[in-house]
Amino acid sequence: PQSFTPGTDSVFSDQSGFFSLDSNVPGLSKVILDKLNMKDYGEYRAAVEGKLQGISFRNYKEMFQKMEETFKFCARCNRLPEHLAKGQVLKRCVKCLNVYYCTKDCQREDWPQHKRVCKTLQLVAVDRLVEWLMFTGDLPFPTEKWSKPAAEVGNWADWLSMQGDLTPRLDAVASSPNMAALWKNAGRPKPDDSDVRQSVWRIQSEFLSRVLSVGLAVKHFGLDPYVRPLTIHLAGASYNETMGARLTDCDELNRMFPGHQGLEVVMVGPEVVDGPIMRPPLRALGPRQQVYISAHKGLYHQFWEDMVEREEAAKPDVVVGFHPGFHANRGLLEGWLPTLLLLRDFNIPSFFTVYSETELQASLQILSELEVHVRDSGQNPFTSQKPEQVQSCPNKPPVYCNSHYICFQG
Ligand SMILES: [Zn+2]
Ligand SMILES: [Zn+2]
Repeated sequence: PQSFTPGTDSVFSDQSGFFSLDSNVPGLSKVILDKLNMKDYGEYRAAVEGKLQGISFRNYKEMFQKMEETFKFCARCNRLPEHLAKGQVLKRCVKCLNVYYCTKDCQREDWPQHKRVCKTLQLVAVDRLVEWLMFTGDLPFPTEKWSKPAAEVGNWADWLSMQGDLTPRLDAVASSPNMAALWKNAGRPKPDDSDVRQSVWRIQSEFLSRVLSVGLAVKHFGLDPYVRPLTIHLAGASYNETMGARLTDCDELNRMFPGHQGLEVVMVGPEVVDGPIMRPPLRALGPRQQVYISAHKGLYHQFWEDMVEREEAAKPDVVVGFHPGFHANRGLLEGWLPTLLLLRDFNIPSFFTVYSETELQASLQILSELEVHVRDSGQNPFTSQKPEQVQSCPNKPPVYCNSHYICFQG
């Protein structure tokens, strides 16, 4: 529908998601809203913001079933169930159990494209169910103290080498009562134990990828948390970081910089979701050897004017942004523009991540047009290990959270 077209005032990244869903598979956004018993995007936003107690399911089975139905359209011709002839049903690819086809012909014609991603999409289909354990509290599982200084931990292999055997922790999640409830209701067979454990790890890696990327930003700008407390702003924080967020979500930074002088993380964005982290930021020094998380709902440049300039919030030592998406459409770019110019003009060390090489190039192009000084960019060694499919175009290569980064200042 026209109402999903992101206007210049739409600063919500999910609105462009709805828009691209609908431009690729006309009617798909409507299907999703119907499954959620919502009439339009406005109601969806209200629910995301916790203003509407709209999302309720009678039981888990219904919840998982409705979620699966939002993936039901022919991957070849984009037909939705309502477009099919009587008696015709969409059939799932038996290998990945992820994409659907209306006929054998559509499946055959699609195979040359689909075969390149079928194996990965099989993992995606498992992950999007197992991810539920983030909300039940089974994930994230606890991590170990760092036995090496942060400077020597450059990638996942280094991080894993300090963790010892992950198997007991993965097993604890894989055999939890919530995991059993999940597969009882998921409407598909439970994968074998090792596949479930790997999925648990991929989801944990996505959670850790964010906090490890913050650590990477601190290292990249040569900031030293042992000399003085540091303030880190997460500009454009969305529901990815804030829905169900806990005060302990950045505690990996304590293990990364043991004995530090205090780290403050302030999540700022129009999509910040209410919860325990919604509390005022610190005005000055952070609590030593602790990570203090707070959140502020609003655009970053507005937060700067209202809080930083009035000294209600400490100035940031570094600003981090996960997947800002300002390359995606005009509305989002206009929302980001005052922030990008502010970061440039105040010479703030800034570290942004993107989903892919393509997004990296598009974002670099915009930053260069803004005459921002890019210091470094490339692949993020702490990329999430969890593939993510483009819902409306399942045969597009899956992307990974925080896959690339851009460092800029001035
Ligand atoms: Zn078809
Ligand atoms: Zn497949």
